[in-house]
Amino acid sequence: MQRIYLDYSATTPVDKRVLNAMMPYFREKFGNASSIHETGRDAKEALENAREQIARIIRAAPSEIFFTGGGTESDNWALTGYCLNNKSKGNRIVTVNTEHHAVLNTCKFLESQGFEVTYLPVEPDGTIDCNKLNEAITSETLIVSIMHINNEIGTIHDISRIGEITKEKGVVFHSDAVQSFGKIPIDVSATPVDMLSISAHKIYGPKGIGALYIRKGTNTGKFMHGGSHERNQRSGTENVAAAVGFGAAAEICKTEMEQESKFLLELRSYFLEKLKKKIPETRLNGVEESRLPGNLNVSFKDADGESVLLSLDLHGISASSGAACESGSIEQSHVIEALNQPPEYSQSSIRFTLGRWTTRSEIDTTVSVLVDIVERVRSLEEDFA
Ligand SMILES: *Cc1c(COP(=O)(O)O)cnc(C)c1O
Repeated sequence: MQRIYLDYSATTPVDKRVLNAMMPYFREKFGNASSIHETGRDAKEALENAREQIARIIRAAPSEIFFTGGGTESDNWALTGYCLNNKSKGNRIVTVNTEHHAVLNTCKFLESQGFEVTYLPVEPDGTIDCNKLNEAITSETLIVSIMHINNEIGTIHDISRIGEITKEKGVVFHSDAVQSFGKIPIDVSATPVDMLSISAHKIYGPKGIGALYIRKGTNTGKFMHGGSHERNQRSGTENVAAAVGFGAAAEICKTEMEQESKFLLELRSYFLEKLKKKIPETRLNGVEESRLPGNLNVSFKDADGESVLLSLDLHGISASSGAACESGSIEQSHVIEALNQPPEYSQSSIRFTLGRWTTRSEIDTTVSVLVDIVERVRSLEEDFA
């Protein structure tokens, strides 16, 4: 059975062009980027080239890009690094209750270390009220951490506006940009953001590599102790092949971003219109404008989300009920919960994320399968009612 993959926000397959760029760095060009001989220098050159490719797409200086083991590590570094190294300036963190667990659970850890965290609520459509943010920042606040695009409902938060607020208040601003990097434009030369977390496997690159953008002058301290890799901030022999893949993936995104987002936007609108027409009481979670082009998160009233998801899987369709790390458990998504919807909708949310290789015929198949599944799940629930 040819599976239909509609979970591109969980991860993506590696683009063939990316894989081809990486291949030489496993065998012929396997050097340690810290070695002084030619084998090492070749690896170093490839590593620095990848750093430049990544810096270019967000208009950062290459020296502000630090490779990490992925988005989770970048979030951990940004928050713990900044807080633990700037204790004398305050003990408060402001974040939002719809953040990824890489941010939320790092905040939980910091609470155990004596920091106080304000978790801002979101509006019913998933947006942030900037007045509430403004009020939440006190003289004790060290850092604000707000994601650029929400991974579950695709809401794009206005990081320019948030950055302006943090600058007025004189606090540092970190943003988890894992879902936006390579998909919508980011320009750190014009946006007052101090740190950005990014990851390769969400943009058709390999898993296990990401980066933290750290604006020059931001003291996040050393994250990994050892040799002097990554400007002495994050030690460990660099994963050159993965970095090369990350750079290549970023480069492709930069070139194809406009065309790709137009394609995804059209496909998503088509998908949503068709769903609304064929399945009564379908509701879009989150906003329709200012949304990640490939993200569709919908609720089918009174149709238990977990049952719909499992049936889709049996029909060869991969979707998600929230963040990937939560699937496999019946636990309700904390993001959907934060939207405060009536239970007949909040228990039935499904996330479809489309990507580079999604086709219209896959969408057609998915809709027709969904029509049957939702009807069956709804009638089962009526029997139990
Ligand atoms: C996937 C994701 C992460 C985690 O990144 P990894 O590279 O898988 O560690 C963090 N934040 C968001 C918003 C994500 O979507």
